[in-house]
Amino acid sequence: MEGSVTTTTVTFSLTPSARERFVSSIAIESSASSSTPAGRLPESRDPATGEVWHRYAVADADAVRSAVARARVAQPAWAALPPRVRAGAIDAFVQKLLSRREEAATIIARENGKPVGEALGVDLGVSLGLAEHFAKVAPRFLRPRWQRSTALMAWRKRVTLVREPHGVVGIISPWNYPMFLPLSSAIPALLCGNAVVNKPSEWTPGIAEFLRECLLESGVPTDIYQVVHGAGATGAALCDEADKIFFTGSEATGRKVALACARRLIPCALELGGSDPAIVLADADLQHAASGIAWGRFSNAGQTCVAAKRVFVEASVYEPFLAALTKAVGALRVGPGTDDTTDIGPMIRPEQRATIAAQHAEAMARGAHEVLRLPTPEGAGYFAPTILTDVPSDSRAMTEETFGPLLPVTSVRDVEEAIARANDTTQGLSASVWTGDVMRGVAVAQRLQAGSVVINDACSAAGIGDVPHGGFKASGLGKVHGEMGLQECVRTKVVMVDWFQGWRQPWWFGYSRAHRDNISAFLVVAHSSRLLERIRALPRVLRLVFAPARKV
Ligand code: NAD
Repeated sequence: MEGSVTTTTVTFSLTPSARERFVSSIAIESSASSSTPAGRLPESRDPATGEVWHRYAVADADAVRSAVARARVAQPAWAALPPRVRAGAIDAFVQKLLSRREEAATIIARENGKPVGEALGVDLGVSLGLAEHFAKVAPRFLRPRWQRSTALMAWRKRVTLVREPHGVVGIISPWNYPMFLPLSSAIPALLCGNAVVNKPSEWTPGIAEFLRECLLESGVPTDIYQVVHGAGATGAALCDEADKIFFTGSEATGRKVALACARRLIPCALELGGSDPAIVLADADLQHAASGIAWGRFSNAGQTCVAAKRVFVEASVYEPFLAALTKAVGALRVGPGTDDTTDIGPMIRPEQRATIAAQHAEAMARGAHEVLRLPTPEGAGYFAPTILTDVPSDSRAMTEETFGPLLPVTSVRDVEEAIARANDTTQGLSASVWTGDVMRGVAVAQRLQAGSVVINDACSAAGIGDVPHGGFKASGLGKVHGEMGLQECVRTKVVMVDWFQGWRQPWWFGYSRAHRDNISAFLVVAHSSRLLERIRALPRVLRLVFAPARKV
């Protein structure tokens, strides 16, 4: 299929008999990734060796259109099921994923490069937690609730909010957390009665197929959860067909997706990149801060959206913190993700590695100092984890997202300078504050322009099912997780009923001088702060409200 663009979606299946074959590498084809004018071909490729171990058919625009059409036909029946039946399928999915966790983590390690243990702890841990959470809360969220309005003009009405699915939801996802990122929208979307078409990253198609198989085996109908493979062209085709798009990826692509959705006036939620700051205050536990920042920055080979990408340290503790950080990172081992002694794996995308190398080179050329550069194994996939100091504030490593194992550390005068430098970015995904005084940390958090701020921990707010996640500024629009994440999966319909059938509304036609005075009195009763004035106006209002129906 090299160089060709077919119109079929992939039919690769991980049946039990095929599973062993899949995990133990069925087809090592070439070390070079291949691409067509429509973009890179979707393939499972081990970034530690460059070996391609599976290839997938590309879904072109026609294939995407027919996938969405099939989903559209199937969706009403799925939406008509009682919510607890859909929740039952997601509960079954949780148990299936749990029972196949080692297989899943191995696929992730072999496509993405991260250590298997890290894939288990983070990718599987977050996925299981959020699926379990949403299956529990979605049925209650979807239950219509009658409520009264506090508006005086609506005194005889009751309102219910009906949460309807959008229809067919398109999910375009990246490769860095290729399991929980698509699931964080797919699970609530399915629970809310939507059909889902996922366009996974062309770099991690295998784990997307694995998830599809697990969902289908758990009772989700075939046309309700589909996967279409391909690069940007396939994602763009999905934006032309779906009723709502959930996009996770770079800011540059996010802008294209937003424009495509704007052209069709369909809603989209965008989870984009971040240049997240970590602020280390003088009263912090420096060992704790060093280990936390080391993990946050260098796990997943530095390819985490909410990783600390710029560290600002109060001058009085800069040297001891830097020493602790250098020691913590210096003890890490770089190697293939399938080796249990590995802490940091290879980077997945050659072009991303080139970007990090260019950001590093520019900083060095402009006077930065390399405090640490870890040795790496032979192989094209590795970028040596590096700590830099004296990085100019207008250099690429400080102004662009650094999506790899490179960390600039900067000494700042005080907390005021730390906050100003932290906010000096166009993005605002998340941040962390490290301090011995938690309430001081909370006060700093309130001044940071970020969608989430974690005190004395790294990255954790982004991976909890009932905690909303989403960025400020150029880091995105909308939220995933929590009730806000469920809200993104529905459109809310207001149904308002009037219990007093046959009673005309006071503001309907039948205008006269008396009617005008009565309406005027109504405004006084509803809004005046003077009690006496309201009491005086009351008789007119009662006349207005309880006047026998007059047919006009
Ligand atoms: P990317 O933007 O290159 O690709 C993301 C997805 O978009 C892929 O599936 C890709 O095929 C698809 N795509 C590419 N062009 C498209 C187009 N024109 N229309 C529709 N889809 C298109 O991003 P990436 O390199 O895969 O991921 C890394 C980026 O994702 C980083 O910037 C990272 O910070 C960000 N990210 C953000 C979050 C978050 O929660 N905010 C989470 C993870 C990653």
